[in-house]
Amino acid sequence: MVKLAEYRGKEIFRKYGIPLPRGHVATSANEARDLVAQGKVPLPCVIKAQVLSGGRGKGGAVQFAETPEEAGSRAGGILGQEFKGERVRQVLLEEKLPIAREFYVSLTLDRSRRLPLLMASASGGMEIETVPDEKILKIPIDPMVGLVSYQRREVAAALGLPPSANPSLDATLQALWRIFVMEDAELVEINPLALVGGALVALDSKVIIEDDALFRHPEYEKLTGDLTPLEAKAHEKGIAFVEIGGDIGVIANGAGITMATLDVLSQEGGAPGVFLDLGGTDDPKKVAEAFLLMSEAHPKVVFINIFGGVTRCDTVANGLVEAMRLAPPKFPLVARIRGNNEKEGVEILRKAGVGSFTSLAEAARQVVALERNGRNPGGPAPPSEAIPAPGGAS
Ligand code: GDP
Ligand code: MN
Repeated sequence: MVKLAEYRGKEIFRKYGIPLPRGHVATSANEARDLVAQGKVPLPCVIKAQVLSGGRGKGGAVQFAETPEEAGSRAGGILGQEFKGERVRQVLLEEKLPIAREFYVSLTLDRSRRLPLLMASASGGMEIETVPDEKILKIPIDPMVGLVSYQRREVAAALGLPPSANPSLDATLQALWRIFVMEDAELVEINPLALVGGALVALDSKVIIEDDALFRHPEYEKLTGDLTPLEAKAHEKGIAFVEIGGDIGVIANGAGITMATLDVLSQEGGAPGVFLDLGGTDDPKKVAEAFLLMSEAHPKVVFINIFGGVTRCDTVANGLVEAMRLAPPKFPLVARIRGNNEKEGVEILRKAGVGSFTSLAEAARQVVALERNGRNPGGPAPPSEAIPAPGGAS
């Protein structure tokens, strides 16, 4: 999933003809002040942090200004700050429009219905999370037919629009549908869609592109955002790799088992720092590559948790042994390998001096104990010493 910042989403909106406030992006307080002083952004104006998290309005990341100087100082106050863990590098400056009403509209994929779903609410804006479900109009869309006129009229009726604004809504909904299809979006959301002087204007945008369709949209690929250098390197090799700050490395196969592993480690008091999802790979070379990447993150201990389904345990074990041969790990390893060809996998690892747990909790406790010992980055502990026999966890 590729989440686009508000201004990127609005570039798409513009391309498809959805009305927007006039605005520009700035990366410094001076640039913000100048944009306003030169009249490129009319006053009064709105200054909005370009971060991927929502709730900016409530969190102080949307501000208003009456003068160029105020716009500059407010932009300066937001830029460089962290909002929900994300550094603000850009602000969007826009004219502040007089809002009569705020609506919510979105198109997303309803996985239970297996259909695109149009959602609309007359009570849009910052309180959308508290709007009761029955107050949100939901219209499943037949993808072969598209969003048709009676459905668009249904939305108009639910929003209680003044009739003069109906053509504006109709055009916006059609554009929303075209964006959803043409850009391979998994979400296109406008909240608020504001009524301003009888017409609708998109004051915010939330666009998520389906990453399985990125081969059709190379323009979004490079926007995957602030990857760390190591994450970018992994990304190029097609390996899902994420750095999150702790010092336990996790190698697992599949999103579910990876998340469960992180949870169990946290439960045991550990701090997972980097994780790598092998997915369903059956290729020892890819496993070796993943292992080399992990080495570069310098974790204190690495936990390998594999369920052998499509990726057979012996394949994974061979890959790990091969990787250890190519780059002897400078950290202790703890393994838990279960499932398809488990015995063979355990045997291969044992021959290479790596013990393996069967209980996830026990393995996690052992990992956390090794993390506490903090062996890194000193001497590489030989695997046989680093990994006590299963059940030896304290
Ligand atoms: P979010 O909280 O991250 O979703 O950020 P939004 O872009 O939705 O902005 C939050 C709120 O700021 C909106 O619901 C509006 O009430 C307000 N806002 C944003 N742009 C404008 C504007 O041009 N004029 C006015 N009056 N309010 C605005
Ligand atoms: Mn919003």
